Amino acid sequence: MIIQPRIRGFICLTAHPEGCAAHVQEQIDLVKSRGPLEGGPKSVLVVGASTGYGLASRIAAAYGSGAATLGVFFEKPPTEKKTASPGYYNSAAFEKAATADGLFARSLNGDAFSEELKQQAIQLIKEGPGQVDLVVYSLASPRRTDPTNGETYKSVLKPVGQAFSAKNLNTDKKEVEDVTLPPAEGDDVAQTVKVMGGEDWELWMDALAEAGVLAEGAKSVAYSYIGPEVTWPIYKDGTIGQAKEDVERAARAISQKHGAQALVSVNKALVTQASSAIPVVPLYISLLYKVMKAKGTHEGCIEQMDRLLRSQLYAAAGPSLDEAGRIRIDDWEMDAEVQAEVAALWPRVTTEQIDEMSDFAGYQAEFLKLFGFGLPGIDYTAETDPLVEVPSLA
Ligand code: NAD
Repeated sequence: MIIQPRIRGFICLTAHPEGCAAHVQEQIDLVKSRGPLEGGPKSVLVVGASTGYGLASRIAAAYGSGAATLGVFFEKPPTEKKTASPGYYNSAAFEKAATADGLFARSLNGDAFSEELKQQAIQLIKEGPGQVDLVVYSLASPRRTDPTNGETYKSVLKPVGQAFSAKNLNTDKKEVEDVTLPPAEGDDVAQTVKVMGGEDWELWMDALAEAGVLAEGAKSVAYSYIGPEVTWPIYKDGTIGQAKEDVERAARAISQKHGAQALVSVNKALVTQASSAIPVVPLYISLLYKVMKAKGTHEGCIEQMDRLLRSQLYAAAGPSLDEAGRIRIDDWEMDAEVQAEVAALWPRVTTEQIDEMSDFAGYQAEFLKLFGFGLPGIDYTAETDPLVEVPSLA
């Protein structure tokens, strides 16, 4: 079939297998160009390994220090008539490349929140590298079924306490508009904490430790976001921020229980499938990219994750943590000059000036790239077979 983007709101219904493979290869090449990561991880479990920060973590570990990787994700396989979701094609491409380069790579496609998938992962670790010395927890999901009671919880993106009115970029219509987001009600906060909080990360670490597949001195990392004040009502102080506080609680609990060094890394705001669904954030990202690209400090997921491993998690001197014990790989984003420039643009940006004042073109290009579109060297007018297998799932 001829595969073209079909965008509906903040999702794209199609994905291009060769484009996704080219996107994965770009990330592999970036890590290779930075040379070997001495003393890096040797065997890594990545939960949420198929897109965004999790995929980048997998690539940074595999190609930085030759790590064996087990990737867990929840993606739609292709059919003859429908393309797969991009994470499926990314994982197929990653496994193919890693195996060709002599690296151990296995994947599991299913619900990471379930007990069954955890046991399958443990089995694969036992059959493969035996133990893992790094566990990356990079899930972003709108719902979770709790394996202990079978109840399904839903995460929402809402302010807490009062409604929040702010500027928003309608990425479909390319319009700057005002939105008012109603506050969380009922058990919205508790539900969001159930889905995006740290409980499932803890369950993973408990299961791995109990099965004896967690290496002595293993590390684990989960991702969070803080960002500037304009986004706080919807992010840091909103329902998702409460869940992220729970992730920090889980980090402390895991470190205490399992003697693993469990840390939260606060990452940069970047275009991913998860972040494009958050109101206000796409406008902020478009302004941020403009400012950071002009300063030469812009990074994508792979640069962020490569820097996280090299300069923090596996730095000879160990990670440098903020006052709350977190890694701040969002340091370049939160740089005072960068934030002052974004803050100055924020009140002035309008629909008419969106192209001059922001990097909306960059935002859109990166959004399309998430689905394998706009990559150089790919003929998007050519017949393409959507039926691609992830080798270890075949
Ligand atoms: P993403 O949407 O690109 O990736 C989500 C991953 O989770 C995918 O691999 C998907 O397959 C997997 N997944 C979702 N539900 C699953 C399930 N039930 N079982 C198994 N796998 C499942 O998201 P992302 O933006 O890379 O987010 C990853 C983490 O990074 C999140 O914790 C997010 O809050 C955090 N973060 C993101 C940003 C950002 O700007 N994108 C910034 C800072 C922190």
